[in-house]
Amino acid sequence: MTDPVLEIKGLDVDYGVGDEAVRAVRDVHLTLHRGEVLGLAGESGSGKSTLAYGLTRLLAPPGVIRGGEVIYHPADGEPYDVLRLTDRQLRDFRWAETSIVFQGAMNSLNPVHKVVTQLVDVIKAHEPGTSRPGRVARARDLLRLVGISADRLEACPHQLSGGMRQRVMIAMALALEPRIVIMDEPTTALDVVMQRQILGQLVELRERLGFSVLFITHDLSLLVEFSDRIAIMYGGRIVEQAPAADLYRDALHPYSHGLLNSFPALRGPRRELSGIPGSPPDTRGMPSGCAFHPRCPKAFEPCPDRVPLLGTPGDPAREVACWLHPVATS
Ligand code: SF4
Repeated sequence: MTDPVLEIKGLDVDYGVGDEAVRAVRDVHLTLHRGEVLGLAGESGSGKSTLAYGLTRLLAPPGVIRGGEVIYHPADGEPYDVLRLTDRQLRDFRWAETSIVFQGAMNSLNPVHKVVTQLVDVIKAHEPGTSRPGRVARARDLLRLVGISADRLEACPHQLSGGMRQRVMIAMALALEPRIVIMDEPTTALDVVMQRQILGQLVELRERLGFSVLFITHDLSLLVEFSDRIAIMYGGRIVEQAPAADLYRDALHPYSHGLLNSFPALRGPRRELSGIPGSPPDTRGMPSGCAFHPRCPKAFEPCPDRVPLLGTPGDPAREVACWLHPVATS
């Protein structure tokens, strides 16, 4: 495993305050290593996007970070806690060190401005000392990087396909050569072939440029193909994390099993899809004990009463929170 670039330690995020607060992210510990693609999967409402917004401090009210640390390890200098940065430091951190591609990002391009204007604006805002010809040349290089011909610089967004608009957003995210790219369901609106093309290209860019990726999606089959490691969220908590191949071959948590059986794999033998019975829990009234117990086919005596802690089930590369697997916790 390479050095950590981002360490999330005990992060808690609520919506609202006091007794009425909804606890959307609970005691999350997660490490992103240099140059890795870390996948984060779970159903809608599991807390994945709130985690991304929380760690980049982009939460809109009534979202509140209630506790924890997000330790960033810069290329030079001492690690620091992102949650303690001033607004000015945060602005630099967001584009220069970390960039984020949001859900539906391809619809976030300004419809009345050409692609070149929008790319150049990002570069100008963060590197005001650069010249206009220099910025245009960078914009051209960025488009080429994501597989779009440079003559599309003069196009407006409506003249591009959905896949091209999404690639432009990825180019924008890479404009300042960040060390971390966070992608929140970036390809959900695209067809399955286009999704895989774009993700394959992202992984190839990662190998060339060396950034790390936190990739968030509800589609676990995508993560199995493109991630180095996968973490699974349920009810605001991480319930399992493992190398992608191990999770695919031998998922330990019954919820991970359920997710794997909910999506068809593009490769390998055909298998029957079964889905997960029931609905994700309402975060305003989380079930007692293991939050998955009302839907779990393997629930047994301790599950409704006691919360299983995330720990190592023997293999140090893996973690799981389930009473079926005795774990060592730190
Ligand atoms: Fe199922 Fe119990 Fe494990 Fe929760 S702790 S996933 S209810 S077996």
